[in-house]
Amino acid sequence: MNNRLYGNLIFELSHEGRRAYSLPKNRFGAYEIPDELRRKDDARLPECDELTVVRHYTNHSENNFGVDNGFYPLGSCTMKYNPAINEEVAAMPEFANLHPLQPAETCQGALEACDGLQKALAEISGLAKFTLNPFAGAHGELTGLMVIRSYHERRGDTKRTKVIVPDSAHGTNPASAAVCGFDVVEVKSTPEGIVDVDDLRSLLDDTVAAMMMTNPNTLGLFEREIPEIAKLVHSCGALMYYDGANLNPMLGVCRPGDMGFDVMHINLHKTFSTPHGGGGPGAGPVGVRKGLEHLLPGESEISVGPYHGNFAVLLRAYAYILTLGREHIKEVGPLATLNANYIKESLKDAYELPIDTTCMHEFVFDGLKDKQGGVATMDVAKRLLDYGCHAPTIYFPLLFHESMMIEPTENESKETIDGFIDIMRRIANEAKETPDTVKSAPHNTPIGRVDDVLAAKHPVLTYRQMVAGE
Ligand SMILES: *Cc1c(COP(=O)(O)O)cnc(C)c1O
Repeated sequence: MNNRLYGNLIFELSHEGRRAYSLPKNRFGAYEIPDELRRKDDARLPECDELTVVRHYTNHSENNFGVDNGFYPLGSCTMKYNPAINEEVAAMPEFANLHPLQPAETCQGALEACDGLQKALAEISGLAKFTLNPFAGAHGELTGLMVIRSYHERRGDTKRTKVIVPDSAHGTNPASAAVCGFDVVEVKSTPEGIVDVDDLRSLLDDTVAAMMMTNPNTLGLFEREIPEIAKLVHSCGALMYYDGANLNPMLGVCRPGDMGFDVMHINLHKTFSTPHGGGGPGAGPVGVRKGLEHLLPGESEISVGPYHGNFAVLLRAYAYILTLGREHIKEVGPLATLNANYIKESLKDAYELPIDTTCMHEFVFDGLKDKQGGVATMDVAKRLLDYGCHAPTIYFPLLFHESMMIEPTENESKETIDGFIDIMRRIANEAKETPDTVKSAPHNTPIGRVDDVLAAKHPVLTYRQMVAGE
């Protein structure tokens, strides 16, 4: 809204002949560009003065919601604070100016940082070795499943075509298994929200390649039957895959390797505080237990990405681990868990809590209690924006109709969390007394409630510049 005076698109601010730059002198001398490569018409670029450009982009940047300007309890995404020291380390010219193809003897420090991170991840997870190659959690899943496929193939065990995935799993699990060429078989959850071991038993045979598990699972619950599940899965010759995207509450408390998992990925952009959102950048290192190291990218035919992965992200994660150190990293999980349980207990009289047990770092409400005033989860999410909070993850997991998945992380102060609880209560009251205020929210954001259906049916994805004569 504060852009109204200045226009919304930089193209709309353009005036012929205005300038905000002067090019440096050409340092490379003259060179000829062949005629067929030259454009015939001038590029249509906006022509603006410097102050207009500065205001335009500054105003846009202020319309962003980020963890640096507000509470961001986006469940499953672990929007924890990205400490400034991580940025400082990643920006060091000794790291930032490296070329991936430069000779190893000239970048020993960078390689040492990679090695240190690999060892730290191995120790944290209880596994033998990590590859840093994968660029995201889903990419890590694919890499891990390729390792599992290769494990079976090298033993000549080619009838294993299935991967078992819990019905509560993140959508990337079945997607990665399918992309890797496996058939996805769903295992049910119990009414308490954890894997149903009896259902699993009925699915296991010698055509199963792997079982994928998320722990804590997507409902924020600790999977208590893992020792039994690992025994069953291993005794039919399959491997155990750990989706470690949500490792946060486990740090320094327990280790997937000790629970019987063979392969896992870790989302550095969640648990290890590297910035993410808007689709990137990320890193999803993959670890394997002893005996599978030779199957990792770099050691085998499996190749999933160039060089050393998303190096600047890896540096941030390593800085985070070293900053906390062996002692303090153990406080992350208990604090994240305490914060989530505190919010859950403080709000469960106003919001529907379908699974009422101690949660880990996150939990799920199923909308407002008694669906007051016909107010839906979507409305609560929009209303939160008016109060300066990012919405939780909504309508996921799919097990409930009005899911609202809240993950506060360990970084937030008691005051911030109490403030959020207060706002959630206020919205619940509004739903009772003035439901239309909630249903038509947001009211204070630059853009109000958008028409989802119209946006889906008639998306306007490009800006068409109006030019005289067209
Ligand atoms: C975020 C998440 C993923 C996917 O990670 P990306 O980096 O977004 O690909 C997979 N599983 C779970 C449980 C997650 O929370």
